Amino acid sequence: MEKREQIYEGKAKKVYATDDPDLLIVSYKDDATAFNGLKKGTITGKGVINNRMSNALMKKLEEAGIPTHFVEELSERETLVRRVAIVPLEVIVRNISAGSFSKRYGVPEGIVFDEPTVEFSYKNDALGDPLINDSHALALGLATKEEIETIKDYALRVDRELRQIWAERGVTLVDFKLEFGRLPDGKIILADEISPDTCRLWDTETGKKLDKDRFRRDLGGVEEAYAEIMERLGARDY
Ligand code: 5GP
Repeated sequence: MEKREQIYEGKAKKVYATDDPDLLIVSYKDDATAFNGLKKGTITGKGVINNRMSNALMKKLEEAGIPTHFVEELSERETLVRRVAIVPLEVIVRNISAGSFSKRYGVPEGIVFDEPTVEFSYKNDALGDPLINDSHALALGLATKEEIETIKDYALRVDRELRQIWAERGVTLVDFKLEFGRLPDGKIILADEISPDTCRLWDTETGKKLDKDRFRRDLGGVEEAYAEIMERLGARDY
């Protein structure tokens, strides 16, 4: 596999072409941003942890029958993935109230829902990723009805799998964000990453936040929290 030119640089990752038009290399950075890029910083070692953790979790999801873009871990920061056209929707699943849900509806963090919720944001930095409903996503041509149903179904299946994986490790999965992509044949697969950048993960016993909220909210111990959650997953063993 030959690494070719960089084709994209995002807030936390760079993407490179390869000599195979169907495959890309993703390279994870230590850069951290929050609040639509207003807050910037570095979390030393984050790129390595997010790469390893995302790959370990995607492998587990594949085993559970959820198709993902993961192909092969190339190094501690780089992974070979299938090229997709990203569906411009952030798919957010919540098991417990927190973050923008608590703010929007004026409720405290920590309310355990009877059923998980699924919501979409329109992936658009200029607009600040606004909340969007199914019919608006359809009206804007962001996805078809069938794709939206598939995405919701996969998102809830991912939630069930991840909740179980984390529960076995003494961690509560509060909420998370997924992104999906289309293969050239139109098939929808899970893309992007699953990491402490994109999930809220609380220690089940103490409630300690083991995710990017430590950076967003200046709680301190950011690097230590990333290292601890990686240790809990034991992703080196996969
Ligand atoms: P909230 O909407 O409460 O801010 O976020 C809900 C969940 O989705 C959290 O786990 C958060 O990490 C994730 N999330 C939502 N939007 C983004 C985003 O733009 N980038 C990242 N990395 N995660 C996000």
